[in-house]
Amino acid sequence: MPHPGLSLGKKEDKLGIRASSTANIILEDCRVPLGNMLGERGMGFKIAMQTLDSGRLGIAAQALGIAQAALDCAADYAHKRTAFGAPIGKLQAIQFKLADMALAIESARLLTWKAALLRDAKKPFTKEAAMAKLAASEAATFVSHQAIQVLGGMGYVTDMPAERHYRDARITEIYEGTSEIQRLVIANGVLKEYQQ
Ligand SMILES: Cc1cc2nc3c(=O)[nH]c(=O)nc-3n(C[C@H](O)[C@H](O)[C@H](O)COP(=O)(O)OP(=O)(O)OC[C@H]3O[C@@H](n4cnc5c(N)ncnc54)[C@H](O)[C@@H]3O)c2cc1C
Repeated sequence: MPHPGLSLGKKEDKLGIRASSTANIILEDCRVPLGNMLGERGMGFKIAMQTLDSGRLGIAAQALGIAQAALDCAADYAHKRTAFGAPIGKLQAIQFKLADMALAIESARLLTWKAALLRDAKKPFTKEAAMAKLAASEAATFVSHQAIQVLGGMGYVTDMPAERHYRDARITEIYEGTSEIQRLVIANGVLKEYQQ
């Protein structure tokens, strides 16, 4: 039996992450019984913000997975696809792309591990989680974009997973806080560190 005032919006038709369902949760004149309250009264915003810190680590990990899969696909294809008598992986233009892709992934992975280590050690990690999420989501978008380029026409068709990686990557720059918001969180952390 649904709670009075609580309903679900329509199932959204999305660019990517199509294996998961997304819908609005609508609260309209919805009274929540005291027994259902999570945490302490008046602490909702703080709890929500703290939850976001951990959530951002999850999105960073998701973005890293997408980016790694895109690189795996592109590097494998660079070995197998021959053009003008040699694998395209022999071309410096392709090698430079693979280098930049690997660099973006490795940098984001180290930031994600650092933030996760701080969280495990129960130390503050708000700024580091935002850095990890920002770096990993931008890496996922960049790497999946480049992977399509390495695959050429095969990158654009659904026979290969590259186009799906590209579509799936995009959301990681949006949910659990957009890239703009991550930059605000990071700047806030930096300014606090330099406060007189
Ligand atoms: C597939 C999907 C799943 C989602 N899942 C969840 C979920 O499980 N739980 C949940 O709570 N939410 C969820 N969301 C919502 C998601 O977190 C928000 O869409 C996201 O945080 C951006 O908020 P918004 O859409 O209101 O954008 P807006 O706030 O309208 O932002 C629009 C643009 O303005 C920029 N902007 C806004 N404010 C500022 C500012 N102060 N400074 C600089 N730029 C700014 C944004 O960065 C963005 O570029 C989901 C969304 C999608 C698409």
